[in-house]
Amino acid sequence: MAENGMIISRRDAMKGIGAGAVALAMGGGPAGLAAAAEKQALPQPAPYALAPLPYPVNALQPHVDGRIVSIHHDKHHAGYVKGLNDTLAKLEAARKANDFAQVRALERDLAFNGSGVVLHELYWSSMCPGGSGDPEGMLREAIERDFGTMDAFRKQFAAVATQVQGSGWAALVYEPAGRRLLVLEIGDHQNGTIWGCTPLMVCDVWEHAYYLQYENRRAEYVDSFIKLIDWQSTGDRFDAALRSSTAGAGVQKKASEQ
Ligand code: MN
Repeated sequence: MAENGMIISRRDAMKGIGAGAVALAMGGGPAGLAAAAEKQALPQPAPYALAPLPYPVNALQPHVDGRIVSIHHDKHHAGYVKGLNDTLAKLEAARKANDFAQVRALERDLAFNGSGVVLHELYWSSMCPGGSGDPEGMLREAIERDFGTMDAFRKQFAAVATQVQGSGWAALVYEPAGRRLLVLEIGDHQNGTIWGCTPLMVCDVWEHAYYLQYENRRAEYVDSFIKLIDWQSTGDRFDAALRSSTAGAGVQKKASEQ
């Protein structure tokens, strides 16, 4: 499962950073850090597979109908997983044949399907049956700092999601360079990001996400989505993003000081 693979590799990376920090604290200096880095095994690539839904297909009713969830997950999400694996196979074949005539189209397919897989896994985790109430802890603090109030955040997020032109997403992301939360408007699956952002919570506004139930009333679907947001898991992803960006910055600073 792609998500598991990403989590494992991130955890492995954290372990490596932790070992380096211990080596420095024990007086190991740069040699200790290098030794710790050597011990860290290169994570193996994980195959991309369709992650199961984290709840039964009918669990989001009445806000999102089970028929939508079933088709969306089993056909659309599955299609992006297949598209990603097919594209990777075609790129491998192109390298073996030393024939890159189709590489521009393949790279576009890679970004489209790869982003589709990442965003759909996050979409299912962005909701939970009945919703989870308001966020707490660091996420609550950051939303109120960066958007003013929860209500202002909800209004901006709903406006972005409703106004996406054609197919796309609204995303709550953490931007580590400026250390702040942002809402991004994503076109298709891959357009409109800022590099390095960690997506924390996303709303799919492709027509396949709502049309069977809401027809052209996208704003009503977005209101329903907001009621279903899983702020608990969103908060966990924010905490993890903060930990990994802070740990990375610490190691870079140490390296530049040598
Ligand atoms: Mn979708």
